[in-house]
Amino acid sequence: MDYQVLLQDAMEQARRMPARGRVADYIPALAEADPLAFGMAIATVDGGVFGAGDWQRPFSIQSVSKLFTLALALAEGGEGLWRGVGREPSGNPFNSLVQLESEQGIPRNPFINAGALVVTDRLLELTGDAVGAVRDFLRTESGNPEVAADDTVAASEARHGHRNAAMAHFMASYGNLRNPVDSVLAHYYAHCAIAASCRDLALAGLFLARHGVRVDGSRLLSRSEAKRINAVLLTCGTYDAAGEFAYRVGLPGKSGVGGGVLAVLPGRGAACVWSPGLDAAGNSVLGVAALDALTTATGWSVF
Ligand code: GLU
Repeated sequence: MDYQVLLQDAMEQARRMPARGRVADYIPALAEADPLAFGMAIATVDGGVFGAGDWQRPFSIQSVSKLFTLALALAEGGEGLWRGVGREPSGNPFNSLVQLESEQGIPRNPFINAGALVVTDRLLELTGDAVGAVRDFLRTESGNPEVAADDTVAASEARHGHRNAAMAHFMASYGNLRNPVDSVLAHYYAHCAIAASCRDLALAGLFLARHGVRVDGSRLLSRSEAKRINAVLLTCGTYDAAGEFAYRVGLPGKSGVGGGVLAVLPGRGAACVWSPGLDAAGNSVLGVAALDALTTATGWSVF
């Protein structure tokens, strides 16, 4: 397959979308993203890296970081993680509080904000530095030592993070956080504020395509754990539109409000796309359209 041509064709098709969606502005620093930015990269398990458009330009990875916090928390701490967070789709917006009370402070899944806060808490307990663990993993897997958290974005979110703070305090009241709320929030905002490119993220996502094996050949997760993460990505990774994403793209994937989407084809590779304009569910409009076009053209799918 000529991945370079496939990428360019997929992006060309996505550009025909009648509208590009809205850039997230509830975190003020994110509103400064270039609404016309658009990039896409593919990394393959046999060492190929392909890209088009703004594929090497760093952007705010936001919730794409939750894929990595989950993988690292499971690798460090094992299945006990699932006592504090479920793995069912929530059917609610990513920042919703309503289910938490009826479900006694146990969030539905690791990719809604409440669930991601629990995962960050456990990773902080296990490593002493949740944001450092994610940043170092991304640096190593991508080979890019410049991957780092953007302090301005993290501070901007901290100033406006009332809902996340409310969720964290609420879960703490149920005993479902082990670290001080302020530390958990600081690490959460910082790993969401990591800036990385489509190239970096496609390479960093390859461990899931390699069934749990890292770039240096060491094993992060068992084959079965990697399969389970892919399953949760498929069912819960793209907000309350995971059904639509599975229908159109047919791959496990994680999106973020910075406009990035990282998708995994187990055994073959990983693709990352970035365009900051979001649809009503919070997914990148051009990003999903480009992945739809790519998987339709290649037949890439887990189904
Ligand atoms: N840091 C963002 C928040 O907590 C992440 C949201 C997202 O990308 O889904 O609202």
